[in-house]
Amino acid sequence: MQFQSDICIVGSGAIGKAAALGFAQAGLSVTLLSAPVSAQPDVSPASWDVRVYALNHVAHDLLSSLKVWGALDMSRVAPVDAMIVKGDDAGELTFDTYSARTDALTWIIEDRNLNAALDAALKFAPNLRTVSARAMQLHGDLQTARLQLDNGDTIESKLIVGADGAQSWVRAQCDIGIDYRSYAQRAVVANFACEHPHRGAAYQWFTSTDGIIALLPLPGNRMSLVWSAPEMLAETLLHEPLSHLAQRLSALPGHALGKLHPLQPEVAKAFPLSLLRTHSLIAPRVALIGDAAHVVHPLAGHGMNLGFGDVSALLKAVTEREAHRDCGDERVLGRYARMRKEDILLMQLATDGLERLFATKFEPLRVVRNVGLNLVNKFPLIKRALVSHAMGKR
Ligand SMILES: Cc1cc2nc3c(=O)[nH]c(=O)nc-3n(C[C@H](O)[C@H](O)[C@H](O)COP(=O)(O)OP(=O)(O)OC[C@H]3O[C@@H](n4cnc5c(N)ncnc54)[C@H](O)[C@@H]3O)c2cc1C
Repeated sequence: MQFQSDICIVGSGAIGKAAALGFAQAGLSVTLLSAPVSAQPDVSPASWDVRVYALNHVAHDLLSSLKVWGALDMSRVAPVDAMIVKGDDAGELTFDTYSARTDALTWIIEDRNLNAALDAALKFAPNLRTVSARAMQLHGDLQTARLQLDNGDTIESKLIVGADGAQSWVRAQCDIGIDYRSYAQRAVVANFACEHPHRGAAYQWFTSTDGIIALLPLPGNRMSLVWSAPEMLAETLLHEPLSHLAQRLSALPGHALGKLHPLQPEVAKAFPLSLLRTHSLIAPRVALIGDAAHVVHPLAGHGMNLGFGDVSALLKAVTEREAHRDCGDERVLGRYARMRKEDILLMQLATDGLERLFATKFEPLRVVRNVGLNLVNKFPLIKRALVSHAMGKR
């Protein structure tokens, strides 16, 4: 069978779902294509998801406008009131809501909570068809793009949106080149209960040999760990009992959390870390968004936020187009690519630069990075500019 829709989105991660919602709510007909998945094991609703995101104000504003923010289970969302960043010597940088003049620096949200809210909103979206199948071929011409699916169906659209993650199939079909660098690190994630209240503080330690350790607040006396550890250390962390990992965290300098204990379910997960730059965000009748368009180190907690920024920009470019242009018109896509260029480049440079700066064992740089943290900490104006950027409030 052949179906038609204005826009076909390939990939139903959080970014693909948000884009599908935005376009459908704007009155366009949308097909959301998700890869068939095997049945997921049941999880207890009381357990805490080890995949959490620090979502900033860009994400908050987009999700609010899509009526998704209101559908989140707010009892499981932790606003971040302070961030304490520690170097590998005496360097320290702190941010807080008071000096940033905001109600929350970011919000820590479980993947499960975010996806449940997106799914709930998708149920009410007009003009939206979800299809579970694998795309096999992508053909485009001046007028339209066609996706051939493995169930024999064809979808014809004015615009194909590649939201299919870091290994994007859509990107590969368009021959869009990439630059790829493995960080030779894995992010080890797990959740812990802490002895003392965290008071909404997120902690981050930049170490010279053990990678970057972040403890993010969850509601109650709970913290979520993202430890970007060199491969060998990641292997060790994953294979030792979580109580050992908890002891390592309890011993980290300068936190007020007391002793940490593993939360149920007692499992750690790990994700390989890389930097991926695409040579273009667009191709004829195709736009890339989310991790299909860029992958950054999670040290700043910004991959998903960048993806939500892509969704906002693509929505703007498409919905504000001139009446004589269709939604996959090359001018419309060109505007989208231009809108995103600076943000993506800045985030890639900042995260990659910080990772390199703290990974180096070159002594003068070790001194400079710690002095740098302390210096920035003393200048409220610079701090405010930095924190505004991180919150997406430039
Ligand atoms: C440890 C860690 C911590 C992080 N913390 C943060 C954070 O605090 N804040 C933040 O903003 N970001 C964070 N990120 C980044 C964030 O996780 C990603 O940027 C985000 O999940 C990307 O979402 P996506 O929807 O673009 O891609 P994905 O989540 O990868 O979704 C892609 C979807 O496409 C589907 N798919 C793939 N191929 C096909 C196909 N051929 N056909 C159909 N469907 C297909 C997949 O099944 C999947 O559902 C973190 C990342 C890591 C690894």
